[in-house]
Amino acid sequence: MREGAFSVANRLYGITFTERTEVPKYHPEVKTFEVKDADGSFLALYTTDYHPRPGKRGGAWCGRLRDQWVKDGKDVRPVVTNVMNFTRPAGDAPALLSLEEVQTLFHEFGHGLHRILSRVTYRSMAGVPRDFVELPSQIMENWALEPEVLRGYAKHWKTSEPIPAPLVEKIGKSELYGQGFATVEYAAAAYLDMNWHTLTDAKLEDATAFEKASLGKIGLIPEIVSRYRSPYFQHIFGPGGGYSAGYYSYLWSEVLDADAFQAFREKGIFDKATATAFRKNILEKGGTAEAMSLYKGFRGREPSVQPLLVRRGFAKAAVPAPATN
Ligand SMILES: [Zn+2]
Repeated sequence: MREGAFSVANRLYGITFTERTEVPKYHPEVKTFEVKDADGSFLALYTTDYHPRPGKRGGAWCGRLRDQWVKDGKDVRPVVTNVMNFTRPAGDAPALLSLEEVQTLFHEFGHGLHRILSRVTYRSMAGVPRDFVELPSQIMENWALEPEVLRGYAKHWKTSEPIPAPLVEKIGKSELYGQGFATVEYAAAAYLDMNWHTLTDAKLEDATAFEKASLGKIGLIPEIVSRYRSPYFQHIFGPGGGYSAGYYSYLWSEVLDADAFQAFREKGIFDKATATAFRKNILEKGGTAEAMSLYKGFRGREPSVQPLLVRRGFAKAAVPAPATN
């Protein structure tokens, strides 16, 4: 699976990953890769730490042991980590990942690419706002399930047969299941968050009534409840939750990644010019410009919600006009 992710990055950006075993590491299971640009210049060190063990935090994330920045005129290249808790190998079988784990691998790898390819001057500018940070990660998940990509890496562990096309088709269809419900319960929570955090009156007597009014405003039907109710909405009230007035950003990132991937769909999923535009305008830029202007630099316009509606099964894909010449 990791080789699959590396090959996507190679076909998009020309970058290569070579394992380096002599680099010191904090645990024997950590693997270290030297990342080089298409011209052979050094870009970053990238480390993976894939399996759970006692004392290791759960979940999956992308971290850095060193940021990219320019110090005294010298480009300091980053050390980027991807930490996961994937299924361990069992018995004679290698680690066989679930589909969700594969998507997680591509997702965190996308965050990794954002750091690996960074070209900023000031360390504080390497990061991006929360409602933009999931674009580079989520867009990578698209390639994971492209038939052309699957054929290269999704092979049966005993027979080496590529994943059968009808199964891939079924996976695609199953992804549409329950999208209406999921979208509405999520959007309800996002509106609730925004309503709480745009309150201008500090005096509030009845939180339940406030919540009811907030959900009433969007016409939420009784069959669907908000994904989170106010008393346990940790993302927006909890210590370190960090999503106050920002819970919408998960869905907004999907608007961005669906619209951005649409650019690849139109030109070809490995189209060099599109990949270079994505790299130069987004992956290299960190937070050096306002997120919307970075996006427009890549896409030439603001994002459209249409590709996300199509992805979720709410709209039909526009049929491309027949070529006239
Ligand atoms: Zn993420």
